[in-house]
Amino acid sequence: MSIVYKASPERAGQWAAAFARQAPDMPFHIWPETGDPAAVEYLLLWQPPERIAETFPNLKMVFSVGAGVDQLDFDRLPPELPVVRMLEPGIAESMAEFVCMAALMLHRDMVGYIDQQRRKQWREIQVRAGSDRRVGILGLGQLGQASLERLRPFGFRLSGWNRSPRRIEGVSTFAGPDELPAFLAQTDILVCLLPLTEATRGLLDARLFAQLPRGAALINVGRGGHLVEADLLAALESGQLSGALIDVLDPEPPAPEHPFWHHPRIVMTPHIASMTRPESGAAFVLDTIERHRRGHPIAGLVARDRRY
Ligand code: NDP
Repeated sequence: MSIVYKASPERAGQWAAAFARQAPDMPFHIWPETGDPAAVEYLLLWQPPERIAETFPNLKMVFSVGAGVDQLDFDRLPPELPVVRMLEPGIAESMAEFVCMAALMLHRDMVGYIDQQRRKQWREIQVRAGSDRRVGILGLGQLGQASLERLRPFGFRLSGWNRSPRRIEGVSTFAGPDELPAFLAQTDILVCLLPLTEATRGLLDARLFAQLPRGAALINVGRGGHLVEADLLAALESGQLSGALIDVLDPEPPAPEHPFWHHPRIVMTPHIASMTRPESGAAFVLDTIERHRRGHPIAGLVARDRRY
């Protein structure tokens, strides 16, 4: 039995070291090296290789190296093959940290101050109390809920929107398309933490922005495909939105002439809101393999029909 890793080559060494420490007897190969393909039972990957079933006839499970699986081409994966997304705790911790930082930056007008500094302007903007600011999260899964927990101490008024109803103490929750307008109408800082699916692609568009209070701000840490970029630019231009923190784009990296690079109301980061930590990632993979072997329930199993 062996594992093949096929994701960021820069991080391959860290993953190999983590597996060597935690499972010294388990052969771990870094793509394109696979050892005996018939011995490969688990793949840890970002994108699957071509002809996966023919190449690895004894595959038992595929792990996504990240929490999201929208990058996977499911048509390349045998229909019965379990696909598990990464649920190691470091992902939620870093995401919650990033969302707090981004919400505080927008709350305390840092996007405007960064622009003012570039222009040598010394001008104060009125400070608002945290309790005057309403932070709303689209997507109340593991990352949305972890972010809400970390946001609590700042005193923001918190809310969230989700496909199925969720009850979270101290958080106003909304569910389904019918309740989206009411959620948006009471959100000053909107955080996108949805998976990218047919239902959520392009959700962050002009229609949605128009339903936010004037001067609201956006944090997109979901996926680039959630955002209609031209609509964000228009909303910033008109003042409907006051600023945006954008961590994810489609494609990544954006072209050198992309308008976000120099936009005074946009702060961009290179898809780093959260990163899987190899040490706890390896622990999650090994624990899942063990659970699968014993026939125990598995966390992070992707529902093929929903694609998340
Ligand atoms: P989860 O699967 O735990 O949560 C997703 C949530 O979104 C669920 O609560 C789900 O509701 C809800 N949802 C799905 N579709 C809809 C819809 N159409 N309308 C309303 N709600 C919907 O995912 P995670 O929290 O682990 O991750 C969320 C996303 O964050 C990932 O898919 C990825 O795109 C992004 N991400 C970004 C990273 C970065 O560095 N920028 C790093 C890691 C992840 P329900 O349960 O009811 O179906």
